[in-house]
Amino acid sequence: MPLYSYRCPDCADFDVQRPMGQAPDSLTCPGCGKVSARRFTVPNLSRASSSAYRLIESTQRSAAEPAVVRSPGAGAGSGPANITTNPLHRKLPRPD
Ligand SMILES: [Zn+2]
Repeated sequence: MPLYSYRCPDCADFDVQRPMGQAPDSLTCPGCGKVSARRFTVPNLSRASSSAYRLIESTQRSAAEPAVVRSPGAGAGSGPANITTNPLHRKLPRPD
């Protein structure tokens, strides 16, 4: 069921789950009982399961608050990594 959002003039916004297309234009606030108008929000249709949406969301989040790293990753800071273990590669010419 979709989630509909309402705005009370005195309290905070609140959400109500109703069947599709059966949300009234106004509801009474559960906090104070005043008539609250329905807010129109962006539909959130199956975006949470999309890997592309997850990437966009994490990118937007890291733009404002970069993720803090406590330690460098494994193998970092120990000089150039030994890429190959094949002994024949030792005979290959090396850059100066
Ligand atoms: Zn209220």
